[in-house]
Amino acid sequence: MIFISAGHNSKSKKVKRDPGAVANGYKEGDLAIEFRNLVCKELDALRVPYITDSDEETLAMYLQRIRTGSGSVVIEYHFDAATNSAATGTTGLIEAAADRLDKAFAKELTDTTAAVLGIRNRGVIDEGQSHRGRLGLMREDGIICLLELGFISNRSDLDRYFANKDILARRHAEIIVKYENIIP
Ligand SMILES: [Zn+2]
Repeated sequence: MIFISAGHNSKSKKVKRDPGAVANGYKEGDLAIEFRNLVCKELDALRVPYITDSDEETLAMYLQRIRTGSGSVVIEYHFDAATNSAATGTTGLIEAAADRLDKAFAKELTDTTAAVLGIRNRGVIDEGQSHRGRLGLMREDGIICLLELGFISNRSDLDRYFANKDILARRHAEIIVKYENIIP
């Protein structure tokens, strides 16, 4: 099964809202929800089932609800942020104990995102190398990636994202389906 979620529940009405990073007049959580929905729409068009987080769930609630397995594909969308507004690019995060498939999945996502958006490819790093430390998402089973699509603090990254988000969502859906089909 495919598990697809948006980092930060910026639109919750019932649980405490988490906007994520805020820059250039945008909330990271809003952008992540938008892109999650675009990828889900592409999966619908491909008639591929998936499980997604609700806007009324915190990450902890979502992780407690989902039951992933070794053949699952687990992806969560975020945007990066930095005080230096020139910081740019896409980054894939994987677990410290990532296997070959985790690494290949994250590499394909970052390669594709950088190419489609025309932004820097910052590559794939493991959670230990990230400023986030250990990530709850990485304790799930399956092929897991947390993807920073670009920098919300970089106006050019945002503009390129807005101009190319539909085609990017299609490419992501194709990659997700490909990895979902690897382990029956
Ligand atoms: Zn985030």
